[in-house]
Amino acid sequence: MAARRILLLGDAALWRRCARVKGVAAPATRRAIRDLRDTLLDFRKKNGFGRGIAAPQIGMLKRIIYVHFPKEGIDGAFINPRIIRKSKTKIRLWDDCFSFPGLLVRVERWRDVMVGYTDETGKKRTIIADNGLSELLQHEIDHLDGILAVQRAIDGRSFALRGESGKSGKRKRMIR
Ligand SMILES: [Zn+2]
Repeated sequence: MAARRILLLGDAALWRRCARVKGVAAPATRRAIRDLRDTLLDFRKKNGFGRGIAAPQIGMLKRIIYVHFPKEGIDGAFINPRIIRKSKTKIRLWDDCFSFPGLLVRVERWRDVMVGYTDETGKKRTIIADNGLSELLQHEIDHLDGILAVQRAIDGRSFALRGESGKSGKRKRMIR
């Protein structure tokens, strides 16, 4: 078990663009995937939520995300993920992030996306994501470009503390 410390909002590493992964089988890549999975599962156990994590959140500036999304049968790493196609429509939702666990941010995301990536065995894959998975992948891929959900806030009122949400009526269910 190698759960790592999660970098929090304000840490300059979270604003950095990550480098492409060249060797999927390289020991450093294997270790990064294992640490991401362990950190994600540890976070879920402690906080009761969490379906995705990006390598820069544990201080590794590599283009790797780890997704735990049992509803779609997904539990694994997406290496060098990129959005290939986007739906024409967007949706609005309250987003959250391991790097600011107490804060919710109202953002706009593409409703569906097609994502290309390399899996843990080195195989190139594409996935068409909708619903929660689409939002999750957009959030995590943003991390790899040094973009946090706070930068995607729709306006100056698009912020709420967790636990305060729902007090003023309709709020979409958390996605992570
Ligand atoms: Zn995040």
